[in-house]
Formats: sequence, C-alpha cells, structure tokens
Amino acid sequence: MCRHLGYLGPVTSVGDILTRGEHSLVVQSWAPTDMRCDAVANADGFGAAWWDDPTTASVHVSAMPAWGDPVIGGALASVRSGAVLAAVRSATSGMPVTPTASAPFVDGRWAFSHNGVVRGWPESLAPLAADVPVVDLLRQPAATDSAGLWSVIRHRLRDDEPGAVLRSVVADLDRTGPHSRLNFLLGDGDSLWATTVHHSLSVLADDDGVLVSSEPLDADPRWQPVPDRSLVVATRDGVTVTDL
Ligand code: GLN
Repeated sequence: MCRHLGYLGPVTSVGDILTRGEHSLVVQSWAPTDMRCDAVANADGFGAAWWDDPTTASVHVSAMPAWGDPVIGGALASVRSGAVLAAVRSATSGMPVTPTASAPFVDGRWAFSHNGVVRGWPESLAPLAADVPVVDLLRQPAATDSAGLWSVIRHRLRDDEPGAVLRSVVADLDRTGPHSRLNFLLGDGDSLWATTVHHSLSVLADDDGVLVSSEPLDADPRWQPVPDRSLVVATRDGVTVTDL
C-alpha cells in the first residue's frame, strides 16, 4: 500500500523533506518496511503538494516511481515551503496507473492522500457519493477508490470541519465497505489531519516542526507509533491523537 508523509515547520526545501532521513519517503518507494499487505514496493507514482500561498496548494504528480523522478532532486529541491504533503503509490490491483491517480489530490488550500483500499469499490463508495454534485464526480481526477474518496471528502469539507469529515467517512465505510484500509492524510498548509484504519502511521513533533509519516524516517527514538483507529490533528504547536 502506498506511503504518505506530512510536514509542518520552518520553511525548507520540499525536495529535502522528501529525501529526509535514512528511511525517507523516497526510500520507502522501493524499500518500505511496514506494508501490511502483499505489495512490496510503491512504484506506481509519486506526488507532493506544498503551500507558498495560504489559499492554494501547489502540486506535482507523476506515474513514475519516486526513486526515478528527476523532479525531486531538480525543481522540488529549490521549491521552499513550511508545509508539505506527499505520497508514493502502489496501485491497488485493477486500478489505473496514471499521473492523475497519484496523490495528493488538491483543491484550493486542501491536499489529500489515501493509503489503503476501499473494499467493494465502487459499489461501497456509491452511497457516500450520492450527495456529491454530478459535475464534481465527473471532474474526479482518476477512476480509483482514492480519487472517489477525495470527491466525497472535498464535498463534505464545504459544510464541516476536517476532523469530523474524516470521522464520518470512516464511519460510513465501516458500514458499506467493511475491512477497508483507510489511512487518510489531509492538509491545508496550517494543519494536518490523519486517520489510521488498518495501516501504519507515526508522528514526530519537536522544535523543528511536525512530521506525520506512514513509517518513521529515521531511528530517532521520539517517533511515536499511532494506534489503529485514531484521528491525528497536527499543527505547528503539536499533535493530538484521539480515538476515531
Ligand atoms: N487504492 C489506492 C490506489 O490504488 C491507494 C493505494 C495504496 O494505498 N496502495 O491508488
């Protein structure tokens, strides 16, 4: 399953965040250690979002493995931001491999990544999508479970706060798509919201900022594993973890 990473902290090189640590997100594209499924690598795409304007997430996505994407050591090394949300993808069997299927999915200030699978997709997601305007569904970036989740979450964000939205989507899928794997990561440049449902996640908060990552980026003993079925809310002031 995919791996994702969120950063909030001092303004720094986006490329540096992607390659930070001996077990960086780029290393996790070819040598993840806690996949909890049959996949062995995250070779089907890569994406990174950053904020240089608080109202707009900028994004780069590709269908290349992160280890071979020259943008990481190239253009993204010179892009600077105090917030980053990035992902490497292992496509779920049967789902397309295209740049637009790679997270993060962005809209305005929002950026979103999903690590996992919606069991019974698309039927199990259809009841949640019933309230989403048809035009928004037609604009969905790819025919994948994660892009469909993004359509639902983006719609619900118009009326509710992010933590409540992520909780409601997990609760709905508990009913319509039991045993789904639902590690979400949502950011707006100021905060990060993450869920753990049947996948790994760890957090590290210190004076240099906050990192929320599918796998620890290094051997720093301050990395905290997040228990399953949690909601993580991270700001530059710290991290709270509550039960879903
Ligand atoms: N199911 C999603 C996709 O195919 C996410 C994949 C993953 O987490 N490995 O894009």
